[in-house]
Amino acid sequence: MSKLIDNFGRQINYVRLAVTDRCNLRCQYCMPAHGIDIVPRKELLTFKEMYRLIRVLTELGVNKIRLTGGEPFVRKDFVGFLEMLSFNDLLEDINITTNGALIYNHIETLEKLKKVKNINLSIDSLKADRFNEITRRNVFDEVYKTMEALEKSNMNLKLNVVVQSGINTDEINDFVRLTKDKNIAVRFIEEMPFNGKGQREMQENWTFKKILNEIKKEFSVEEIQSEKSSTSRNFSIENYVGSVGIIPAFTRTICNDCNRIRITSTGTFKNCLFDDGVFNLRDFIRNGASNDDLKELFLSLIKEKPENGFIAEANRTKGNVSESMSTIGG
Ligand code: SAM
Ligand code: SF4
Repeated sequence: MSKLIDNFGRQINYVRLAVTDRCNLRCQYCMPAHGIDIVPRKELLTFKEMYRLIRVLTELGVNKIRLTGGEPFVRKDFVGFLEMLSFNDLLEDINITTNGALIYNHIETLEKLKKVKNINLSIDSLKADRFNEITRRNVFDEVYKTMEALEKSNMNLKLNVVVQSGINTDEINDFVRLTKDKNIAVRFIEEMPFNGKGQREMQENWTFKKILNEIKKEFSVEEIQSEKSSTSRNFSIENYVGSVGIIPAFTRTICNDCNRIRITSTGTFKNCLFDDGVFNLRDFIRNGASNDDLKELFLSLIKEKPENGFIAEANRTKGNVSESMSTIGG
């Protein structure tokens, strides 16, 4: 079987698929208050098209998928799509990134889907008022309730916390404290300028180093050996049930071991979060491409994967990074 191996010897086994560009929240660091310009529905990949693209990718060695968006649970019958994907015998892990505002009633169903093992829940503050201000929606109670239910579920729970200067840096250690009794992996993410056109000025960069120093002010942490392709560097604290991680999303020190590609909700293939889109898969399949054509295409696209996110950013033809993570698929 041909495998997806790039020019730097990295084998791709993980795809991040944005199932929609729509979202029910309006996080300040992700999009403007009025939302982003969403695309007409017919421009979004259908679930059947997504299933097919993923099937072909799994035949080239992909065995893990992360479903994201926009908010995946906003898309009608997303749970049905998860069931459909579960039938792909070459897929081992189906992971989901969600804001958690719409999933409480689905948790039992998700638990039955054996390949759905990891849920990343985005929660940037443990204070209701602040959370609602960041997301510009009044959903803290629902998200918190969901977090507690997910922690008790049979799925692994990771919390995504975007560290935002001037907004929530004073809560970094409150999140760390959560891991004392809860089996949660809290992961702090460096804020990136993907916010749908400069709605929020980042005042100060809270880098990996700065976040770690903040944690070390209160806790004695020990680094845990992470999987080679992990996006986070992870730490444990003695006698704490959970763990803490930091994702150097913006300082990009993790690119060497990248094993990922992305497909946006409109079917744009991306080799890197920071590139500006490499190929329109949707039009390719709508114009009649066969599965063999797709395989050949993927094998050649992967050879264009840039060495790292800085090179990807420098190669952009559409200007500086400013699109919303909601369109890219975070
Ligand atoms: N709506 C879902 C959610 O919020 O989890 C999935 C999509 S969201 C774009 C995926 C992740 O990207 C979230 O954890 C979010 O916090 C993160 N994100 C969005 N904009 C970001 C930015 N400018 N910098 C860093 N992370 C960002
Ligand atoms: Fe929506 Fe997620 Fe972006 Fe927040 S971070 S606006 S929840 S897509």
